[in-house]
Amino acid sequence: MTLLVTGGAGYIGSHTVLELLAAGQDVLALDNLSNSSRESLRRVAALTGREPGFIQGDVRDRTLLDRIFTDTAIDGVVHFAGLKAVGESVSEPLRYFDNNVTGSITLCEAMAAAGVRRLVFSSSATVYGDPAAMPIDENCPTGTPTNPYGRSKLMVEQVLQDLGRSDPRWSIALLRYFNPVGAHASGRIGEDPHGVPNNLLPYITQVAVGRLKQLSVFGGDYPTPDGTGIRDYIHIVDLAQGHLAALDYLRQHTGVRIWNLGTGTGYSVLDMIRAFEVASGRAIPYVITGRRAGDIAECWADAGKARRELGWQAHRGLTQMMADAWRWQSENPDGYATGDTPQN
Ligand code: NAD
Ligand code: UDP
Repeated sequence: MTLLVTGGAGYIGSHTVLELLAAGQDVLALDNLSNSSRESLRRVAALTGREPGFIQGDVRDRTLLDRIFTDTAIDGVVHFAGLKAVGESVSEPLRYFDNNVTGSITLCEAMAAAGVRRLVFSSSATVYGDPAAMPIDENCPTGTPTNPYGRSKLMVEQVLQDLGRSDPRWSIALLRYFNPVGAHASGRIGEDPHGVPNNLLPYITQVAVGRLKQLSVFGGDYPTPDGTGIRDYIHIVDLAQGHLAALDYLRQHTGVRIWNLGTGTGYSVLDMIRAFEVASGRAIPYVITGRRAGDIAECWADAGKARRELGWQAHRGLTQMMADAWRWQSENPDGYATGDTPQN
């Protein structure tokens, strides 16, 4: 049996495909390459010695989905495909709702028609809004996301909850990611955002290789120990492995389940800069600017539910996140454009 991985060529998708293949799972990746490169999965194949199937196409294309479910014995779907740039979602809300919400609904319709009812969905800690207390556990009420991207994630969660209620045969995991960072330890795959990075760590690594001049630290006046925002950064390989644990669980349980995927530890922006400087030996010039609209002061997970129910927890600490992020960026200063893997 084969797992369909939508958005499989992207940052989290490619690392998860690698872990799935390494665990002996057959994988078919579907990606429209709107924010990724075919090269990522070529490198995954080179690293694992196993070739994932790949189809370049769109998750909103129902005809294509029907063909995939007819042609291949799919027993579950890991659904990463979507757009994720918060600022862009404010200026192009329709594109975001179409990709993220319509895309997810189209996928579920095709799954239902094919009788495939096992689904892992990429949600986000953003659905909690601005919680009153830390750490955040899964019982913390979902808040009011401050942008269309966050709303699209919450909407899809609600759609999937209703779907699970309507038909108890579905097995659905809503994985609420905290802040994935870092790269596979080989340095061959990593985060390669198109354009100027929105997220902190790719911005830092691109400053370190000279692609960007300096980092703007968004806000030095938060009510945190050093005044900068605190987040729960999780190594991408730990996050990827969380998907395998969720899939194992879904193979034995029906219903809709929610798990935080985080470490339970928060670091400030200044902590992150210092840790990166130690790992890379490079100074990161930065300037403290105003707060970024929609940002919250702090956000970290209670990671206990995933540990208890999935037997999964993050093992890789900040030093390894930084070392692996730096290995990837320094060996691939232009991301996947740095050098293509020869094709057989
Ligand atoms: P990414 O952009 O690297 O990966 C998403 C992939 O989906 C890309 O390869 C893109 O080409 C593809 N895609 C987009 N729209 C598509 C469509 N309509 N049809 C087919 N393919 C499509 O992003 P990522 O960081 O790997 O994120 C994966 C998922 O996790 C996304 O749904 C994102 O919202 C969610 N998420 C990410 C983070 C994060 O910080 N990276 C945090 C929480 C949730
Ligand atoms: N941040 C920053 N400068 C940047 C990007 C991010 O200071 O160029 C801060 C941001 O304000 C937040 C933290 O870094 O406190 C993590 O931001 P990111 O966008 O990576 O993730 P978020 O938690 O906002 O989704």
